[in-house]
Amino acid sequence: MEKSFDQLLSLNVDEGCIVEYVWIDGYDAVRSKGRYLKNIPSKASDLPDWNYDGSSTNQASGEDSEVIIKPQRIFPDPFRGKPNLLVMCDTYTPNGEPLKTNTRFECERIMNQAKDLKPWFGLEQEYFLINPNTGKPLGFPNDKDPEPQGPYYCGVSGSKMFGRDIADAHFKACVYAGIKISGINAEVAPGQWEFQVGPCVGIEEGDELWMGRYLLQRIAEMKGLDVNYDPKPVKGDWNGSGCHSNFSTKPMREKDGYQNAIIPALEKLSKKHKEHIAAYGIGNEDRLTGKHETASIEQFKWGVADRGASCRVGHDVEKKGYGYFEDRRPAGNCDPYVVTMMLVKTCCLED
Ligand code: ADP
Ligand code: MN
Ligand code: MN
Ligand code: MN
Repeated sequence: MEKSFDQLLSLNVDEGCIVEYVWIDGYDAVRSKGRYLKNIPSKASDLPDWNYDGSSTNQASGEDSEVIIKPQRIFPDPFRGKPNLLVMCDTYTPNGEPLKTNTRFECERIMNQAKDLKPWFGLEQEYFLINPNTGKPLGFPNDKDPEPQGPYYCGVSGSKMFGRDIADAHFKACVYAGIKISGINAEVAPGQWEFQVGPCVGIEEGDELWMGRYLLQRIAEMKGLDVNYDPKPVKGDWNGSGCHSNFSTKPMREKDGYQNAIIPALEKLSKKHKEHIAAYGIGNEDRLTGKHETASIEQFKWGVADRGASCRVGHDVEKKGYGYFEDRRPAGNCDPYVVTMMLVKTCCLED
């Protein structure tokens, strides 16, 4: 019997598998291309290196355009199904030098230096779903603003909630892919959502958040929508998108870790505010205004349960005397390899 289009898409591969290679381009965005392999790999190092045209991704000149991609982490592919795979790669010149945009390389080097401290991360990725026909978030009428912020955060309503099918399909796709997604929630503006990835150890956080973004963009693409991670995509009295970064080390998670490790780390961060802001995403000055649950970009401030602070310690952490803290400064468009690297560098590797 003749197969339908959907049946063709869901055909099983009888032998070998299809692997989608995913990498970061010269615009801080993800790209991918697929390849068929006769053997099914069980780890990233079983996969061959590959290459692409860097002159089309803002990463190389036309004359010498080849970029080498090296497989680093494999994930089951929720789109093509098992045994097909997605693989997170990083980027090199043909001589084997990491590209300038290969932030994973330096992140891994730093994570290896801090291995004994067992750094854990949990990043909260906020984003808007955008209708490309209007350029506005889902749920924003063409001719006027929607009802002001209030009912949307974690809301339930046929007239106020937009894009739940996408947020939920993404949640399940992440679980299928083995990404340590810990949850999702509707955010403060219409068409704005959040997913959290963590706790992850060291380099895992960057790998899994980038792959989580890739899955989200693929699912939004199926619905003809774009994903926007900009820190302030909608002008006016609307929240921007952040990427709160929760962080702990082994000493912070042990008895008296609040006094012995968390407070000293926050003191170190207070001395490196400018360096961290510079590494936390582009356009963040429009978001860190001191309004909309943010601290001003001008100065570092930490506090217990304070959502207007740069870094926040939870009530329960103060009470128990150990745990983790939240750096609320990173923008939605930050590079998680850079954010996690900076946290470890400042808090763990400097005096
Ligand atoms: P918020 O209350 O700020 O909205 P979320 O629940 O959205 O926080 O996200 C908190 C994130 O922190 C989750 O991904 C969670 O897995 C992670 N997390 C929990 N404990 C730790 C820890 N000890 N170290 C680092 N991250 C942690
Ligand atoms: Mn959250
Ligand atoms: Mn949030
Ligand atoms: Mn948060």
